[in-house]
Amino acid sequence: MFHKILIANRGEIAVRIIRACKELGIASVAVYSEADREAMHTRLADEAVCIGPPPGAQSYLSIPAIMAAAEITDAEAIHPGYGFLAENAEFAEIVIASGYTWIGPSSESMRTMGDKVAAKDKMKEAGVPLVPGSDGAVYEVEDAKKIAREAGFPVIIKASAGGGGRGMKVVHAEPALAGAFNMCQSEAGAAFGDDTVFIEKFLEEPRHIEVQVLGDTHGNIVHLFERECSMQRNNQKVLEEAPSPFVDEKTREKLCEAGVAAARAVDYVGAGTIEFLMNPDKSFYFIEMNTRIQVEHPVSEWITGVDLIEWQIRVAYGEELAFTQKDIKKKGHAIECRINAEHPFKFTPSPGTIELYHAPGGRSVRMDAAIYSGYSVPPFYDSMIGKVITHARDRQKCIRRMQRAIDELAIIGVTTNQELHRRLLANPAFQSGEFNIHFLERWLKEMNA
Ligand code: ADP
Repeated sequence: MFHKILIANRGEIAVRIIRACKELGIASVAVYSEADREAMHTRLADEAVCIGPPPGAQSYLSIPAIMAAAEITDAEAIHPGYGFLAENAEFAEIVIASGYTWIGPSSESMRTMGDKVAAKDKMKEAGVPLVPGSDGAVYEVEDAKKIAREAGFPVIIKASAGGGGRGMKVVHAEPALAGAFNMCQSEAGAAFGDDTVFIEKFLEEPRHIEVQVLGDTHGNIVHLFERECSMQRNNQKVLEEAPSPFVDEKTREKLCEAGVAAARAVDYVGAGTIEFLMNPDKSFYFIEMNTRIQVEHPVSEWITGVDLIEWQIRVAYGEELAFTQKDIKKKGHAIECRINAEHPFKFTPSPGTIELYHAPGGRSVRMDAAIYSGYSVPPFYDSMIGKVITHARDRQKCIRRMQRAIDELAIIGVTTNQELHRRLLANPAFQSGEFNIHFLERWLKEMNA
């Protein structure tokens, strides 16, 4: 096994990876910005190296600073976590070219899946269902019109190089198409240095459901079932659960099979997620693959018993998966609530000093966080400071357990979104499982009205 791993990240995911390293007997190296001198990941790792000033661009996104830290600490492998450089194929290539192991998929898999047109091409070949629309890139307005008429309005124009919810435009009727098409092209060129766009039918009331996959270097790929991630605001997930309350066994089988086929098409190694949109009639379509670990991975860990970070490390070392698909059984229900340092309804960030932190505990409650009493949440990074995860034998029991965990959680000194979770968990639509990707925003609007 590796003797030492550098974690090129911060916050709860860095802590999660350091914990996995400790359990595997691997030494861990944290990198930290000047704003994270007192951060949990800096304190928990066996070694810690300062890599620059607070802004991400000068620290957690600085490839030279991270590579220098790997060199002076004699690390063997680099785990990128999520966000920052996790989906940067060039970083993966530099890591490998410098003689370290990249804990993630090959840079080719990352490049293909990072380019939406290339990814859809691959998925088509593999027989994974795609949202109806253009066959590849669209360059001319006249072609765009023809494709949109065939698919039927509304349509969505997307930048091939887009990501994080940026570079997309919804068009409801033909008169608006030409303007939106030209604007999407020029904005994509300016924002991503690539003005390639394509067109999809805009699905009006879908759910966001994703499949967790895990592959090794011996050609084995398994899935860990699906996650329901429709509770979103501004394309940011707020609460996730597994399994999806909407997916029946027959759909689950087809969906998870499509996830594995997608991963197989790019010879995927490591942990990855295939995102789908699912219509009310349960038809589903591939939208993208995230070639990294995801924030919401604990809900899949809990229903399957598979430690995803441990297996990311093991397969990066070359180990073969110790289980096959039929060994992976799903058990019960898991929910994750993301705890953000922000106003629960206005969503304004609330950095500052946490005067008191008390984590919930008890049966089947997991807290993945990077905070402690006296810790100052810096203003430079994402507002997510932790995640509460609960498990129970069924969804209803799991919701109750989460309600009591959220009640037990005490964070004093900074404002958090705890009250949002409290109300959401009590909401009849959430409790019945009848919601889609628009639910949260519509509900928030109603509450403000
Ligand atoms: P990004 O890479 O920017 O996250 P995605 O392709 O994953 O882009 O899409 C982000 C979100 O945009 C989806 O979760 C969904 O809410 C919405 N979206 C994308 N494609 C469609 C579509 N064809 N119809 C309806 N909504 C869509």
